[in-house]
Amino acid sequence: MSSPFQLPAVPRLSRSTVDRNEPVRTDPARLAKLWATGRVLLLDAKGRTPVRAGATELATRPTAGDLPAAAMLLGEADGIGYWVLPSDEELREGVPSPDSAWGLWTGAASEAGEEWHDLRTTGALLSDTAAGLFTTAVALASWHAKAGFCANCGSAVERVNAGWATHCPNCGREEYPRTDPAVICLVHDGVGVNGSHVLLARQPIWPPHRYSVLAGFVEAGESLEGCVAREIEEEVGIAVTDIRYLGSQPWPFPRSVMIGFTAVADGQATLTPADGEIEAAQWVSRAKVREAFATDVPDLKLPGPTSIAYQMIKGWAAAD
Ligand SMILES: [Zn+2]
Repeated sequence: MSSPFQLPAVPRLSRSTVDRNEPVRTDPARLAKLWATGRVLLLDAKGRTPVRAGATELATRPTAGDLPAAAMLLGEADGIGYWVLPSDEELREGVPSPDSAWGLWTGAASEAGEEWHDLRTTGALLSDTAAGLFTTAVALASWHAKAGFCANCGSAVERVNAGWATHCPNCGREEYPRTDPAVICLVHDGVGVNGSHVLLARQPIWPPHRYSVLAGFVEAGESLEGCVAREIEEEVGIAVTDIRYLGSQPWPFPRSVMIGFTAVADGQATLTPADGEIEAAQWVSRAKVREAFATDVPDLKLPGPTSIAYQMIKGWAAAD
């Protein structure tokens, strides 16, 4: 008797070992000390950071001078405080009180033996700590990029709490980094314990032959399970049962957390892809999914290893 399948590993962007150390964010003396001995992760406008070529670690920089107003504290790891700063002019726009004396803006953006990588491409390859730092840096920067003005009165806001909040100088409103929950669900046909076929679909904007499991944003006032059932009904026109939680990971593109589930549906039910949203949907056998992981299958390309979808499909494929 086989058991229900699980994720084969912690999702790659959920491996963080970084101590977020929330109380220190409002303690100026401790922040100054963490800056003086800390390291800086540079982030460009495309969400890329320098990585040592072929290595699993980020190419962080030593700090210099006084703590810049634009610096955001990611947390501590092995006794070192890690910070993020924008690396280029593009991101400096809208950053309150940029410290023009800070030498990293233009001067130290590239060093020999480094490559600038984005999180999607490199996240699965990084060490646990590096993946955690990079994920949090991208999430914080993405939030600030869209949160420059007060939602209450429209005034420009200022960053406080080492980048973990904004404060409106006009009306006093405080805001904290937002995260949008999204569900992602692997639907199988319920044959045996783990099904014989998995439901895979593709969006029109994806590269040719790329298929994945279904996903969608949680609506206001909706439960996660309600969202799973609604999204699958909307996207392919079938009903699901036996909704079960698998795991989650942050997905800061720009500000989601992906919450993974599995569910069961009738493998004989007619699939009706939603116009404009789903280009094609199909039931795929375990043998074919295994083949697509092992070799190049021209008509079935699976998601990349940084995604939770990869872990979900991998776990299902490995089950009996
Ligand atoms: Zn305001």
